[in-house]
Amino acid sequence: PCTDFDVAYFNSYAHLGIHEEMIKDRARTDTYKNAIFQHQDQIAGKVVLDVGCGTGILSIFCAQAGAKRVYAVDASDIAVQANEVIKANNLSDTVIVLHGRVEDVEIDEKVDVIVSEWMGYMLLYESMLGSVITARDRWLKPGGLILPSYATLYMAPVSYPERYSESIDFWRNVYGIDMSAMMPLAKQCAFEEPSVEMISGENVLTWPHVVKHVDCLTLTIEELQTVSTRFTFKSMMRAPFHGFAFWFDVEFGNPSVNNSKSNNAQPALVAAPDDTATETNKSKKRANPSEGLVLSTAPEAPPTHWQQTLIYFYDPIEVEQDQVIEGSVTLTQSMENARFMNVHLEYSSGGRSFVKESVMR
Ligand code: SAH
Repeated sequence: PCTDFDVAYFNSYAHLGIHEEMIKDRARTDTYKNAIFQHQDQIAGKVVLDVGCGTGILSIFCAQAGAKRVYAVDASDIAVQANEVIKANNLSDTVIVLHGRVEDVEIDEKVDVIVSEWMGYMLLYESMLGSVITARDRWLKPGGLILPSYATLYMAPVSYPERYSESIDFWRNVYGIDMSAMMPLAKQCAFEEPSVEMISGENVLTWPHVVKHVDCLTLTIEELQTVSTRFTFKSMMRAPFHGFAFWFDVEFGNPSVNNSKSNNAQPALVAAPDDTATETNKSKKRANPSEGLVLSTAPEAPPTHWQQTLIYFYDPIEVEQDQVIEGSVTLTQSMENARFMNVHLEYSSGGRSFVKESVMR
């Protein structure tokens, strides 16, 4: 059923600004474009479904790659604009815009390919991946392709003294006035909820942990209702430990050979050698030519509009080099609004244990 929350959600996508931000995110849009053209042999002459087409940009890339037909579905009123863009580009014979939820529209044939840009902050915020799964189960042919094909959510402990002092220590001396009485409130306001902001690789205390790896071809909706994992980190340095950062990457095509048993995924922290190179290189990150293209939102990757998501503690924990940080994190859909996400974090280090509950709204 379409709830009031869905109405508000789709209304937010009727505004041009949000689409402009996504399209101007070159790491995002270039990687999708490159991935679509890299899979041209599986798209040319085939039927494609674009789940959440927005302005229609990915549908148009697929048409340019030779798709026979593209169903461009969006529940937001931006679909009206997408239709105008498609007409103006003489693609109306190929791209069919359907203005409605992918759960509700009717398509009279099976599709060979599903393309979708469904990723939210912390990967799963907005929970649009469920809609992609629904579309897959309704229309994707056996052996069909989903772009992106895999997604991985990571977390790592971080130290960010500048952020802490800017928001908290600031109150110690305000125009010569001691306003430290403000500090408890400042901590609450700054650190109660997850915060979307950019950190750098230098803020990360050690290798990231894989919170969740999904194969979009086999993932089920039930699997997404609760995502839970236990982690163990060993800080590589002595530092004040301020919280955890979360980020994700998605991979387009080709089974990832990265199915090692360890959850501590070392390669993710290694910067791509071509990070500072040309425009096109910026969005690509290929550790190994036999793997698919990767769109990474890691701190050391080129910046994206997703940035990273930080969950800060109210007070830092001083950790020594090699000190162990362990605990668990559980992500669940909020009962208050299915688009919101509850984050339950338990962590201990140096003999002290903490619990932090937060809601991503
Ligand atoms: N594909 C576009 C837009 C991505 S934003 C691009 O890459 O630029 C995600 C879009 O998905 C939004 O426009 C939103 O309205 C749409 N969307 C989300 N859930 C949907 C659903 N269940 N059915 C149809 N559209 C949906």
